[in-house]
Order: sequence, then structure tokens, then C-alpha cells
Amino acid sequence: MTRHVVPFMRLTPTEDAAAINEGIRRVIASGWFILGPEVEAFEREFAEASGASRAVGVGTGTDAIALMLRALGVGPGDEVITSPLSAAYSALAILMAGARPVFADIDRRRLTIDPAAAEAAITSRTAALLPVHLYGQAADMEALKAIAERHHLALIEDCCQAHLATSAGAPVGTFGSGGAFSFYPTKNLGALGDGGAVVTSDAQLADRVRRLRNGGQTDRYKHDEAGVNSRLDELQAAILRARLPFLNAWTTKRRALAALYRQALAIATFEVPPELEPGHVYHLFPVLSSDRDRMRLHLASSGVETLIHYPIPIPRQAALADLGPAECPVADDICSRLLSLPLYPALDPTDVMIVSRAAASHTSARAVTS
Ligand SMILES: *Cc1c(COP(=O)(O)O)cnc(C)c1O
Repeated sequence: MTRHVVPFMRLTPTEDAAAINEGIRRVIASGWFILGPEVEAFEREFAEASGASRAVGVGTGTDAIALMLRALGVGPGDEVITSPLSAAYSALAILMAGARPVFADIDRRRLTIDPAAAEAAITSRTAALLPVHLYGQAADMEALKAIAERHHLALIEDCCQAHLATSAGAPVGTFGSGGAFSFYPTKNLGALGDGGAVVTSDAQLADRVRRLRNGGQTDRYKHDEAGVNSRLDELQAAILRARLPFLNAWTTKRRALAALYRQALAIATFEVPPELEPGHVYHLFPVLSSDRDRMRLHLASSGVETLIHYPIPIPRQAALADLGPAECPVADDICSRLLSLPLYPALDPTDVMIVSRAAASHTSARAVTS
């Protein structure tokens, strides 16, 4: 008998496969692979979907953050306040721009940067705030925007997990100077390789990012500043154009599956982080268990694949030890309990029930034996 397995994710194209194949065919037939009509069209279409007036396609989400910081003049000697709970790339992007990441602890319920902690971390060297919209739910942008304005700081948003998300009704990436998106294959809008974009309504910022992504060229072979080589390529842009029309429906599916999890886990003995924004796009569905590691093994033995986002708070990464980063006890506590359950548009609702039952059976088994 083969056991039923619920994979953590499935990246093989589904209803979008025909459109993707057509996009790939079109680019190959055109013979044009870097900075051409597909990237230009995708930039227009993605800006419109994101509620911004401009988008600039770049090589990765990490580069989108780093180039936006550089384009704003944030660099050596500057501090950028960000969240200790994210993909480490959020902080690595700050280092790439030459600035220093400063961590402000997270809000225990929202799991994004705590505005009060962010304000307390401001020094005379602080140049920017970089909140991360984690798991698909926006940070508390109204509070963060007010702090940025009060202290004259740049505000840029890490939207890599938050395509189409909103905060208090407004699209992420539109609260400050701009937003950075990733199209890494696992994201809500994923390429079949690496990709990223900056969205902004600031024409000057868009132009500077456009120049920086292409070696700082202002004309062919004329480099006016030391840019980088970080361009979204034509194939990935065509693939993203093929997928973008499905994104609304996929987001609706993610929300429905999350609602089903919430219902099924309502009486679970572990914690399900609350939905504080109706604009949550459920990139991931983490739960918090004080018995996380054993729960993970129990789920694996029931055929349910899980992952941990993220096992190590960024300030505790060896790569950042030289910075002497601030303690973030809330992030430490949360990281020790996080466990992400499978959630993606192709996930069957009956699998949500299977996962929920397996998760709940672990906690109830413990309740009996302890
Ligand atoms: C994926 C991700 C990044 C990095 O994006 P890449 O395209 O992989 O460089 C940055 N921040 C967050 C929150 C992410 O999820």
C-alpha cells in the first residue's frame, strides 16, 4: 500500500503550463534575451498589478532591496533598521548596499517588526527602515510610515513574500519610497529561475535603479556609476507574464485554504498566528508549537512535509556575528516554535484536513501522556 504524502510544495506548472510554454517559445523565436520587449511589458503589467506607477525588473529580490537602497543614497556609514525574523537575504541586501543592518524585535502577534522597537533603535546614523511583510501579511505600515516621517527616514518595504498583499487597504510597496519583490520559484508569483523587481511611484528612483541594474550605464558602454549586473531576463519575464493573470485566483485559493486550516485547527493546543490584515496573501502558513521538533517528526511519519521559516533569527547567523547585533528575545522565542504547514494553490482541501488531523493528533497524544 502506498502511503498518502502531502508535499510541502509543488512547483510544476499547472493551469499556467500552456501559457508558459508559449512565452518561452516566443522569446526563443525572437532571438532577443536581455532587456527587451518582454521585460518592458512585464514591468508595466506588474506595476499595474501592484498599484505602483513603475516597476523595474532585476535579477533577484535581494538585488531589488540592495539597489533600491543604493539608489536612495543609503550606503557606508548608514544604518538600516529591519526585522530579525525573515529570510537572511533581507539583511544581506543591506550589507550589499554597504550599510549596516540594525535589528528591532518583532511584534509577538503579527510576527513583523514592532514599530515601537524600530523607533527605539533609531540613532543619528539611521537612514532607512526596511520592514518585511512576512508570510504574506503586511507589517504595521501605518505606524511605521508615521515613524519614518517623524524621523525623516527612507521607508522601503521587503515585499518578497507579499505579492498583491495590502495593509489597511493600501498595496504593499506603496507606503514609502518603494517595494522589493522576489520571483524566486517558491514565491506567490514565481519564475522558473531567479528574478526580482522594484516597484515605486518615484520616477527618479526608478531611473536610478534601472541604471544601477545595468552596470551604471547611461549609454551603450558608457558607465557613469559603478552599477551591478542584475537584470530580469526575457525568458523569466515572459514566464512571469504568463503567470501574472493567474495570481488573483491563486491568492484567493491560498486564502480559502488558510481559512480551512484556521477552522480545522481552532481547538488545537498549539498556536495559530492571528490574521490581522484581510489583505494577507498567505505565502506560508506557520503555526507555533512549544513541542515543534517532535510535532515535525510526527507529521513526517504521517506523510506530511513541513519546513521551518526560519530556524535561526538573522542576528544569530554566524555571517553577521561581527556586527554585534542587538538581542531580539521575541524573535528567539518565536523561531524556536515555528513550523510551516503545506499551503499552495494546488493543495487539495482534503489534504488540509489530513494535515490538520495529523497535527492535532500529535498534541492530543502529548496531552494524554504528560
Ligand atoms: C525570498 C526572499 C528574499 C530574497 O529574494 P531572492 O529573490 O531569493 O533574492 C528576501 N526577503 C524575503 C522576505 C524573502 O522571502
